[in-house]
Amino acid sequence: MNDVILSVKNLGVSFLHDTYKRLTAVDNVSFELKRGSTLGIVGESGCGKSVTSLALLRLLPQPAGRVERGEAWYWPSEALPGSEPLQEKVDLLSYPKEKLHTLRGRRISIIFQNALTALNPVHTIGAQLAEVYKLHFPQLSREQVRQRSIELLRRVDMPAAERRLMDFPHQLSGGMRQRVVIAMALACEPEILIADEPTTALDVTVQDQILHLIRELQEDRGMSVIFITHDLGVVAEMCDEVVVMYAGRIAEQAKTRTLITRPRHPYTRGLLASLPSLAQEPKTLLPVIEGSVPSLAEMPTGCRFVNRCQHAYDACGEQPSLLQADSHHWVACHVVEKEAQSG
Ligand code: ADP
Ligand code: MG
Repeated sequence: MNDVILSVKNLGVSFLHDTYKRLTAVDNVSFELKRGSTLGIVGESGCGKSVTSLALLRLLPQPAGRVERGEAWYWPSEALPGSEPLQEKVDLLSYPKEKLHTLRGRRISIIFQNALTALNPVHTIGAQLAEVYKLHFPQLSREQVRQRSIELLRRVDMPAAERRLMDFPHQLSGGMRQRVVIAMALACEPEILIADEPTTALDVTVQDQILHLIRELQEDRGMSVIFITHDLGVVAEMCDEVVVMYAGRIAEQAKTRTLITRPRHPYTRGLLASLPSLAQEPKTLLPVIEGSVPSLAEMPTGCRFVNRCQHAYDACGEQPSLLQADSHHWVACHVVEKEAQSG
């Protein structure tokens, strides 16, 4: 079986701006997700993380959002319904629309950013879980659905799982609702889980519990996970490999350990420097990267980080290419290139 489960190549996404002009939100993004591993996508708000994941599942807002180019090859581990025998690989971006439901939620599942608002306030937890089962496993009886729902809620450590089926979302705490959202994403035992900032709205203790839960579920199901976050601390805990995105492009890409111990891109270094570490006095002000991520309409033409970079020089007016800096380590930065040349 292929060691890679998902291979994204040269993904480009645009949004319609002012009714006639298209602006690039994601530019030439490529990465591979290895089977059974966790890949982190990290970057500040507005860097294109959510747009990347929505594009892969063909869930971009229509008609404003459009995939301009790219491929996203998925290697299923068993045959997709209606396509016996096993197709070796399928391109998610060109897969027929009417067959997408056999993949989405079933083989590849997403926990959306702002998932806490994703639950329907007027339906019970039980009804919402049943909905997921009915869609993907219509042959299950009501009692089977009920039993599976209870088991699933227990699996996500929901206290009094059976009684929770009768509850409405507002009766649960934020952490409990997030457990329900995770349960819904896992109901059909997907091979790939995309978790888009799944703990951002939660307080720190609950956040730790949820991260622990996702890791545990991943290990016992051998799931492959794309974990999206703005927090490199969370990446260090959760991910095997990391893609650092800045303003729609990949700035740096490496194994987590390499990225944390030997970051090369000034943006990655800035993100790392602004992490609270145990060595620091609790009240020390953390350094922040000055400025903010440019909006789509005001992207610099060369390196997109140029206005915030302390090391920028003339060459940075040109777009840097993503170059290999070391084994399993790629960086798109003229400053790093210059350093390498001067030895
Ligand atoms: P992230 O998830 O990294 O915070 P997003 O992927 O949500 O960032 O957004 C990337 C860029 O695309 C941002 O500049 C954002 O303003 C833009 N964008 C996202 N959704 C839309 C949309 N529906 N219409 C226009 N621009 C959008
Ligand atoms: Mg986002």
